Amino acid sequence: MRNTKALWRILIPKRRRASNEVIPRISLSSEARELIKREAALYQEVETGGILMGPAGSATEIRVTYASGPGPNAVHTPTYFLRDTEYCARVLQEHYDKFGIDYIGEWHSHVDLLRVPSSGDLLTLAGIMHDPDYDFQSFVMLLAVKTGRRRSRLELHGFVATQNIVSKAVIKNYKSYNS
Ligand SMILES: [Zn+2]
Repeated sequence: MRNTKALWRILIPKRRRASNEVIPRISLSSEARELIKREAALYQEVETGGILMGPAGSATEIRVTYASGPGPNAVHTPTYFLRDTEYCARVLQEHYDKFGIDYIGEWHSHVDLLRVPSSGDLLTLAGIMHDPDYDFQSFVMLLAVKTGRRRSRLELHGFVATQNIVSKAVIKNYKSYNS
């Protein structure tokens, strides 16, 4: 793999953006948000996470309808998280069969207040975006950052990777179908 620094730059709003650049928007369902909150609360000192599912399509208007937990064989450490791939693949298959939705990204928690993807996260994104087996046009990374004195508050930060760039996204809520 080529040097990640050369391959990737992270765009953060407030810094200068090219005028023709579109800020991606992630619409997050209340189900997905609640699941992330619930799962993140189960692990205080180590990272956890899962996959994100929604209709595949636009790289700038993204809908996240469901999120999964980590699965029983996931690896949790303070700076690193590896999902249980078998479990996540099964959850994805179920959601695909039921709702026709796809694997569009991943989420994980940060317990060290890092509000942007770590260098390891960028490597993961680079690997996914350049894996010919996946053929993603875009891929979402949601970071659930634990803040507050007892790490009881949760901030969500969204990023969207395309071929050569990772952009900070705006996260919006949308009401679930059945509420
Ligand atoms: Zn991370």
